[in-house]
Amino acid sequence: NENLVLNDARDWSHLFSGESASRKSSVMQAMHGILAQPGIRSLGPGAPSTEYIPFYGIDFKVGSTDAFETVGKKTPDTTTSIQAGKHDSITGASKYDLAIALQYGLGTGSKQLVEFLTEHIQLIHSPPYRDWQTILSAGNTSAFEIVLRMLGNKGEYLLVEQHTYTTVFETGLPLGFKFAQVRMDKDGLLPEDLDHVLSNWDESARGGEKPRLLYTIPTGQNPTGITQPLARRQEIYRVAQKHELFIVEDDPYYFIQLPEFRPGGNLPATTAPITSVEEYVKTLVPSYLRLDTDGRVLRMDSFSKIVAPGARMGWVTASTQVIERMIRAHEVSVQNPSGFSQIAVFKLLNDSWGHMGFVRWLAHLRGEYAKRRDTLLEACDAFLPREIVSWVPPTAGFFIWISLDWAQHPEAGTKTKLQIEKEIFDATIENGALVVPGSWFLPDEGSSGMDGVFFRMTYAAASMDDMQEAIQRLGAVLRSTFKLGH
Ligand code: PLP
Ligand code: PMP
Repeated sequence: NENLVLNDARDWSHLFSGESASRKSSVMQAMHGILAQPGIRSLGPGAPSTEYIPFYGIDFKVGSTDAFETVGKKTPDTTTSIQAGKHDSITGASKYDLAIALQYGLGTGSKQLVEFLTEHIQLIHSPPYRDWQTILSAGNTSAFEIVLRMLGNKGEYLLVEQHTYTTVFETGLPLGFKFAQVRMDKDGLLPEDLDHVLSNWDESARGGEKPRLLYTIPTGQNPTGITQPLARRQEIYRVAQKHELFIVEDDPYYFIQLPEFRPGGNLPATTAPITSVEEYVKTLVPSYLRLDTDGRVLRMDSFSKIVAPGARMGWVTASTQVIERMIRAHEVSVQNPSGFSQIAVFKLLNDSWGHMGFVRWLAHLRGEYAKRRDTLLEACDAFLPREIVSWVPPTAGFFIWISLDWAQHPEAGTKTKLQIEKEIFDATIENGALVVPGSWFLPDEGSSGMDGVFFRMTYAAASMDDMQEAIQRLGAVLRSTFKLGH
């Protein structure tokens, strides 16, 4: 609503770590300001003349938006050629060119690509406060590492979902973080448990202060595949307000939101071709950013699952105060994503697709992943022994998470859950299939607090035949380890 007067974000500077608070702006960046002065003769920045950058043009062939207008059609068979010239911004061919992309840039990423993504954030999430800002990151892995350094100190706790993405531990542990797990149900992170953990926080028993940071993967959670519905997000946001939490929203699967699984059914209406961005947005569960009136959310988006993981690029949105500290961290580390990545993605999104084309691509992808998800779920229905295996059909992302009734294992009395998990994992590999043990998604890989035996399976890339074959093999292993009849 254009007429709404938006508030500024709250002040979050008390969260900044010593490391982050002590960062000064880069002297090189200060020179860029002086260079804008008319008539200045620069003997300043030691940047090479673009004359000596030996790339004069790059031709890209990208998927043409018409090719995936029909959702459910195979990967686009028509492509569009686009060229990036060295001086397109001078000739007027484009507002971004190779000379800019391959020169030193800002800690925000190029202003041209940031402009596109800022419009995108406004269109998709309309953050409900005034002073938000979007910058580029080198992907969510890099962004998360910077965020942890910025918003936390050694010895602090990070609130995480009961099972969470392994890299969270790999990043946090060496930085001195501890993890406080919050229970989940079929709608994800439980607000009551979050409140319970925080209301009953015992500093001496935990050996650390009450946590101030919540890390969550709200859509197609890795590894459980669960998506928090809007009501759940609103409740969690209220608990965050009550306990003064800052939320780190890691959302690489946001655009892989899938229709409900209907066995043997056709693709329902949510995968129909879309005709406007507004209409598409209505099919998506709102993000935390969209609910964030306080500026207490830092949202991380990634191109990895929707364009290319090797681009090593994503975008981060938070209040200008928080983003400013992140830019300072970029200046002394990645600086900005590679200029090659930036120009490739800019050419695709801005100069070829536009916002509507981007959204069409995302809708197309959703149709593709829905078919994959359905194939894997149908194989589960057909080949897994229901008497010991259960799962929640995912409505987003890449993963199906199965839960085993380990108590029915013939040696449940003598073997630990971890041993049962390992037995099944090893036997499955021996039988020619790979699934990921649930304990890998725990802070200490299951040595304590393992509340069940789970496996994660992905439908992201295997062929339809391989998915069926793998599930058949897993089913055979489960029948034999649990000594079930056939
Ligand atoms: N966060 C989550 C929850 C993920 O599942 C992944 C990739 O699987 C990443 C982050 C990594 O994203 P990126 O490739 O942008 O670093
Ligand atoms: N390799 C790398 C480097 C990744 O960043 C990712 C996704 N984040 C993966 C592999 C896939 O990881 P996972 O199967 O745990 O999602």
